[in-house]
Amino acid sequence: MKSYKFETKAIRAQLPKTAQQEHSVPLFLTSSFTFETAEQGAAIFKGEQQGNLYSRFSNPNTNEFINKLCLLENCEKGVATASGMAAIYVTFASHLQQGDHIVASKNIFGNALHIIKEYLPKMGITYTLVEVDKANEWQEAVKPNTKLLYVETPANPTLKLADLSFLNNLCKAHNILFVVDNCFASPYLQQPAKFGADLVIHSATKFIDGQGRVLGGAIVGKEQPATACYDFIRRTGASLSPFNAWVLSKSLETLAIRMDRHCDNAIAIAQYLSTHPKIKKVIYPFLHSFPQYQLAKKQMLKGGGLVAFEIGGGITESHQFLNALNLYSLTSNLGDCRSIVTHPASTTHSKLTTAEQLAVEVTPNLIRLSVGLEHIDDLLQDIEQALQIVFS
Ligand SMILES: *Cc1c(COP(=O)(O)O)cnc(C)c1O
Repeated sequence: MKSYKFETKAIRAQLPKTAQQEHSVPLFLTSSFTFETAEQGAAIFKGEQQGNLYSRFSNPNTNEFINKLCLLENCEKGVATASGMAAIYVTFASHLQQGDHIVASKNIFGNALHIIKEYLPKMGITYTLVEVDKANEWQEAVKPNTKLLYVETPANPTLKLADLSFLNNLCKAHNILFVVDNCFASPYLQQPAKFGADLVIHSATKFIDGQGRVLGGAIVGKEQPATACYDFIRRTGASLSPFNAWVLSKSLETLAIRMDRHCDNAIAIAQYLSTHPKIKKVIYPFLHSFPQYQLAKKQMLKGGGLVAFEIGGGITESHQFLNALNLYSLTSNLGDCRSIVTHPASTTHSKLTTAEQLAVEVTPNLIRLSVGLEHIDDLLQDIEQALQIVFS
């Protein structure tokens, strides 16, 4: 399987057929598994023989999903989790202890930031937050007790990139576990393990599902740190349900073709907005005007499905624009086949003070689009008519 291309692996890496000779992998809704003999049960419990015991530990559907994701991310081992947040929390909880220090970028998913700022200190774990694209801040943040470096790239909502090779070198020089949340790019556009990441985290709820149906997450990476996460989940219970794993494994079959369309639609919208007189700034990693364009080309296959831009005016014009759109859903989710529009300052980033918002460049007129799979003509036409209403 390893020698095949991404698309082939995503479709053909599946469980062996059962006696029914089914073509599409069935759903194994079972909480436990039986043994042929008492001796076999003993051997599986001891780990001398491979086999499923109980679906908190493993299940054919979760195994298929995670094994496929490992193949796609060039990783050795992994574990599927109940959500993206479970993957993030488990990674911290299974690798950090009292007295340790973590360095993370400020530009990460809100709940991940909350864990770092509110829950880790309760366990005696300290943190330093840095600007994702400032090399000197990362270097200065490292302490003798730094055990883990955590980053998201592209980062929400300003799509700033972390330089994965640079961060990997920093981690390897100081014996720090290098963890990357690869949710915005998806495994198709970027594989952080190729740049040396020890663990790669996904909220499978986003582009991997791609149709806004189920929650799920995953941690994949090098054998030893991924095993530590697996052992923690097996005992503490944030396992992925077999049903969600079944949905997500089938979703991976179409990830490449969906991401291609997300990216084609997104860059067309970014280019259109760049020429519009009422739009002040357009942010998209594969636009030449993107400050880290070269880095984007180095790390990512395409620019991704998210576009951010600043509309002329402030919060009033932003809200008017959202309300004038017909086709884009008003929700804060992303990575769906349905296009979504979000106003970060009044939703996802509303818990931050104005100063904190500006520090991560969330201005009152910043708008984020998660570009879906609808026809590009309809998506462009809807933006055009909404801008006409706001600025008429
Ligand atoms: C949504 C998201 C998460 C959290 O994932 P859930 O599946 O909602 O728990 C983590 N990281 C990023 C970048 C996300 O977008």
